[in-house]
Amino acid sequence: MERISRFISTISPKLISWRRHFHQFPELGWTEYATTYFIGRQLEELGFTLFIGEEALVSKARMGVPDHETLYKAEKRAQEQGVPDEWLHKMRNGHTGLVAKWDTGKEGKHIALRFDIDALPIFENKQKVSGHFPEEEGFASSVPSVMHACGHDGHAAIGLGVANWIAAFQKELTGSFTLLFQPAEEGSRGAKSMLDRGWLKDVDYFFSGHIGIQPLPLGDVVASTNGFLATSKIDVTFTGKSSHAGVEPQEGKNALLAAAATAIHLHTIPRHRDGVTRINVGTLQAGTGRNVIPDLAELTLETRGETSQLNQYMEDEAIRIIESAAAMYDVEVDIRLVGKGVEVVTKDEGEWKPFLERSTEGSHRVLQIHETMPLRASEDVAYMINDVRARGAKATYFIFGTPLAKGHHHPLFDYDERVLEVALDVYASSILSLTLQ
Ligand SMILES: [Zn+2]
Repeated sequence: MERISRFISTISPKLISWRRHFHQFPELGWTEYATTYFIGRQLEELGFTLFIGEEALVSKARMGVPDHETLYKAEKRAQEQGVPDEWLHKMRNGHTGLVAKWDTGKEGKHIALRFDIDALPIFENKQKVSGHFPEEEGFASSVPSVMHACGHDGHAAIGLGVANWIAAFQKELTGSFTLLFQPAEEGSRGAKSMLDRGWLKDVDYFFSGHIGIQPLPLGDVVASTNGFLATSKIDVTFTGKSSHAGVEPQEGKNALLAAAATAIHLHTIPRHRDGVTRINVGTLQAGTGRNVIPDLAELTLETRGETSQLNQYMEDEAIRIIESAAAMYDVEVDIRLVGKGVEVVTKDEGEWKPFLERSTEGSHRVLQIHETMPLRASEDVAYMINDVRARGAKATYFIFGTPLAKGHHHPLFDYDERVLEVALDVYASSILSLTLQ
């Protein structure tokens, strides 16, 4: 425990500098070219075996991959940021993220850890509110409208910390380790494609986690998180017919009205007796000019439910409403499912608190351990957790408490960077206690 503690103190400035680097250069899901390279280059130096691009994930299991033009631009940008062609070639067309393996050569458990690495389409501190820590410290996002506003910059840094720790403690450790640096968590798009590659089929233990989420102080850790919401992410395009709004409005087919009616009516889906449901229309873009009947409208929306059945109820209702609105305004509609997440199947919930108490005994970073709390959000890691649990292996998802400047997905989101040390402590201690058993 003391050696873990000393190691964390030594690496702490690096954890912070990695976090700030990721924060300053955020990348959206399936365009994490520079992020993947930054992580991969270091893991390679440490001696991990890397799997990049289609070696790491099943291409066709990816969801919500951006169009070719977006990917091409992102690849160009990454090239300008110094990502070598050899790496870009492997990641081409949105095959970002990587898997790193370490085999101690000694008999023991196979432990997998997953870290998500993508950012959000949010403009950081647009109104320039003073007191925003990343701004004041000079590491605010350098990319307009892209921001690490959920803490995945921290998750990526923690992952690098774990990798460094495994390399440093290799003599003491047994078994093997698989680190998954997952792209496109936002929108529940990436986890399934990595899972489908088979990385978890023989793991004994699987760990992942999130900083923040629950209003917990620094040093508090939730040992086993439940209450993941199943979710569907849906893109809708209404195509009508434009015409002169003054001369022959009767000739037009109004896509904007179909989208507007859809947005309003989606929010009137009745709540369900059996549990929590959510719906949100996040964006609506339509029309080309004041005097033109709008022939194109695009909506992005999501549904959620406490269970997959409840989410399916929301999704089915949503699709019925979208199709009905299209019929009402006599426009074409294209509905695309661009992301999907499931609820987490709970299992062994009571085991993790005592496990973590034993593992982190004597730590001055982990101060209080909670048995379980609900996530109340969606996390596509649920696919991985459920898969591991279904095979009888062990999986858990931690929450690492930290004060938050503003909530997740807010343009002023920020957290206490000391939470990086807490999370590294939890992962390192957990691994050590399992490999010493
Ligand atoms: Zn997140």
